Amino acid sequence: MALNYDLSEEQQILRSSVRKFAKDVIKPVARELDEREEFSYDTMKSMAELGLFGVFVSPEHGGQGLDYVSYIIATEEIARVDGSHAATVAAGNSLGIGPLNYYGSEEQKKKYLPKLCAGQGLWGFGLTEPNAGSDAGGSQTTAVPDGNEWVINGSKIFITNAANKISMGVTIQAVTGKRPDGKKELSCFLVEHGTKGFTAKEMHGKLMWRSSNTAELYFEDCRIPRENLLGRQGDGFHQMLSTLDGGRLSIGAMGLGCGQGAFDLALAYSQERQQFGRPICKFQAIAFKLADMAMEIELARNLMYKAGWLRDNQRPFAQEAAMAKLYCSELARRVSNHAVQIHGGYGLMKEYDVERFYRDAKFLEIGEGTSEVQRIVISRQIGC
Ligand SMILES: Cc1cc2nc3c(=O)[nH]c(=O)nc-3n(C[C@H](O)[C@H](O)[C@H](O)COP(=O)(O)OP(=O)(O)OC[C@H]3O[C@@H](n4cnc5c(N)ncnc54)[C@H](O)[C@@H]3O)c2cc1C
Repeated sequence: MALNYDLSEEQQILRSSVRKFAKDVIKPVARELDEREEFSYDTMKSMAELGLFGVFVSPEHGGQGLDYVSYIIATEEIARVDGSHAATVAAGNSLGIGPLNYYGSEEQKKKYLPKLCAGQGLWGFGLTEPNAGSDAGGSQTTAVPDGNEWVINGSKIFITNAANKISMGVTIQAVTGKRPDGKKELSCFLVEHGTKGFTAKEMHGKLMWRSSNTAELYFEDCRIPRENLLGRQGDGFHQMLSTLDGGRLSIGAMGLGCGQGAFDLALAYSQERQQFGRPICKFQAIAFKLADMAMEIELARNLMYKAGWLRDNQRPFAQEAAMAKLYCSELARRVSNHAVQIHGGYGLMKEYDVERFYRDAKFLEIGEGTSEVQRIVISRQIGC
C-alpha cells in the first residue's frame, strides 16, 4: 500500500485556494499588465497575503513551513492563469529565498527571510552574465577581499525580481580565486540594493513574462561587508547548481501550469466555436488533438509531482528535476501551439489569452538551463 497518488488534505486546500485566487485576482488583470509591460505591486501584495512567498521556509523564519510539492502546486496554479505572476512567485521562492534559506547563517536568515516571506521585498539570483549563460562556471565577476570588505566588479544579465521598487538585494556568484586544480574558485555573496557601486537597470522589450521584472546588474568597486559571504568561500558553484535543481522544479511547474491553462482555453473554445453546424471539438482532428494534450499534461503532472516528492523525502532528485523541467517546458510549447491552432485566427489576436500562453511557453525551454543543457544533465546522470 505504499504507492499513493492522493494529495494530502493540506495540499488539496492549498490547490483550491490558489486556483480561486488566480482566477479571481490575477486573470482579470494579466492581459493588460502584459500589454503594458507592468509589474503589479497590488497583485504582489495579494499574492503575499495568500502566503505565496516562503512556502517551504520554516515558520520560525517567517515562512509557511509547507513541503516542496505544495510549492509546485501553488506555482502550477498561478502559471495556469499567467506566466509573469508565476515567474515572480517562482523566482521569489526558489531563486531569491532558496539560497538564503539553505545556505544563509542564522543572522542572515533573521535579517532577510521574514521580510521576503511576507512579500514586502524581493530578492534576486544573479548567476547569468553576458559571457556566462549555460556555462555558469564561466563567471567573470570578481570579489576581492580588502580589510573587512569584499570589493565586487562585474555585471549580471536577465536577473528576475532584481530591479523594482521592492527589490531588496541579490545573491551573486563571483570569482574569489583559483582552486588547486586550476579552475576558478566561485563564491556567493549577498548584495543589498542601495550599496554604493551597485546599480540595477530594468530590461524591457521581452517576448514573454512581460509583467515580470528582469534586470541588468552592474558592480563597480562595490564594497560589501565580509559577513555578506553566503556559506563558505569556494562553495558558490555548488550552491548555485543545487539552487538550480530546485529552480528546475519551479520551471517544470510553470510548464505544467502553462500547458494546463492553454488546454483549458482550447477545450472551452472548441466546445463553443461552431463550424459546419457543429462545435469544432466534435471534429475528430480537434478531439484527438485535445486528447493528446490531456494525456501529455497527465504525464507531466506525474513526473513533476514525483520529482517534488523525491525532494521532500530527501532522496536524490537532480535527474528527475531535469527530466521534469525538460518534459514540462516542451509540453507547454507543444500544448500552447495546439491551443493556438484550435483557436484559428482568433488565437493570434491579443484579446485572446491563448496567445500569451504561446509566448510565455517559449522561455521555459531556455531559463534555468536550456533544453540542451537538461539533456546534458540527464545523459550524464544515466551514465553517458
Ligand atoms: C526573462 C529571463 C529571466 C531570467 N532570470 C534569470 C535569473 O533570475 N537569474 C539568472 O541567473 N539568470 C536568469 N536568466 C538567464 C537564463 O537562465 C539564461 O538565459 C539561460 O541559462 C541561457 O543562457 P544564455 O541566454 O546565455 O544562452 P547560451 O548559454 O549562450 O546558449 C545559447 C544556445 O547554445 C546552446 N548551448 C550552450 N552550451 C551548450 C552545450 N554545451 N551543448 C549544447 N548546446 C549548448 C544553448 O542550449 C542555447 O540553445 C533569465 C533569462 C531571461 C530571458
